[in-house]
Amino acid sequence: MNERDSEIMGQILSSHGYVECNDMESADLVILNTCTIRAKAEQKVMSLLGALRKIKTQRPGMKICVAGCVAQQEGDHLIQRMPHVDLVLGTQNIYDLGTYIARTTETGRPVIATGMSKAFQIPAFLPTDREAIGSTGDLHPFRRFVTIMQGCDNYCSYCVVPYTRGREISRSAQDIVAEVRKFVDQGVKEITLLGQNVNSYGRKPNGTARPCSFPELLHQVAEIRGLHRLRFTTSHPKDLSNELIGCFRDIAILCPQFHLPVQSGSDAVLKRMNRHYTVADYLERVEALFACRPDLALTTDIIVGFPGETDEDFALTMDLLERVRFHGSFSFKYSDRPGVRSCNFDGKISEQVKSERLAIFQRRQDEISLERNGAYVGSRQEIMIESTGDSGFQGRTGTNHIVHVDQHTDLGPGDLLEVEIYHAGQHSLKGRFHPKH
Ligand code: SF4
Repeated sequence: MNERDSEIMGQILSSHGYVECNDMESADLVILNTCTIRAKAEQKVMSLLGALRKIKTQRPGMKICVAGCVAQQEGDHLIQRMPHVDLVLGTQNIYDLGTYIARTTETGRPVIATGMSKAFQIPAFLPTDREAIGSTGDLHPFRRFVTIMQGCDNYCSYCVVPYTRGREISRSAQDIVAEVRKFVDQGVKEITLLGQNVNSYGRKPNGTARPCSFPELLHQVAEIRGLHRLRFTTSHPKDLSNELIGCFRDIAILCPQFHLPVQSGSDAVLKRMNRHYTVADYLERVEALFACRPDLALTTDIIVGFPGETDEDFALTMDLLERVRFHGSFSFKYSDRPGVRSCNFDGKISEQVKSERLAIFQRRQDEISLERNGAYVGSRQEIMIESTGDSGFQGRTGTNHIVHVDQHTDLGPGDLLEVEIYHAGQHSLKGRFHPKH
């Protein structure tokens, strides 16, 4: 979501005459688009701001903007800690970036724009042609993200998102389809629809727009001619409907990849996390998914060391890993985030125990990922080429696996090609193709 927001900010800046440069030292404006989901991400922002302070001492005309969740969370505290910051831009305010930058120049003082409104609607934001050539960051010009909703109403006890991104808001299906169509017209082949909990898309009224469920939206987007691949993220297990599962059977371009965060294998921990499902519920949904799409690659998120997590609770998470055998997972040590309920929970786990549990989980996940990847050896997979080089090229399967091919091809990024997988590593595969003569 931050990547898409960065693209939007890049588009706004280019309409104000800014051009990208390659280093912070020569920039007139630096924007840090931040994440505060874990303490480590926030620490990185603070250390980068420290480095920027030194550059700004040499070049006082440089403007520094902090956008995103750290900005939303810290507000004017950020200016107190980092007085060299010119603009603090909240998550609902990025669309007015140009106005706020102008205001910093007019007033000569830091501007804090972190207001949030219950009536906020995500504006229709069509990509410009400049974006189509991939000039913003290192994103692939043939693969783009489209935000379909923002915010979250779930209030998981450890999570800052409902506070930093606000209450859940869905965009109108009409705006989303128009944005995807514009991207496809510009040569984009793959779209990932983004939201904190896409499963609840359209549940709340959105202005005058006709209500549309997420499965209906998927069908509408999939009908856009020229789109080859469709993905989405993220889903909440409690809202995963049979209708959505059925989309994996009925929509040919929907990639067989699903990210379904479980967070813990212990019902007691899930209850304290306020997740509103049990391990049995989760397993039942996983079974339904694989029944519908047996070749699905399933990934998850895990938090180890949640307050009160006992050795038995952690063992249950390891049991779940053995039962589901996730293709991959994103696993993290629990960290207190300011203002969330779990900060006040008893039973905080020591750093040492959290690190040990994380290492145990990740070691076993790596073994399972390797075994899962090994099952692709000998199969034929369609890959979308992402990059080419002197020694071959790299592509991605529908299941989201990276495939390295050490042969040359006349095809280029965004083209589809069938390869035979002959080697599996923990994080990627190797393939070869049979050139047509
Ligand atoms: S559903 Fe996701 S974004 Fe929403 S509160 Fe829970 S963890 Fe945070």
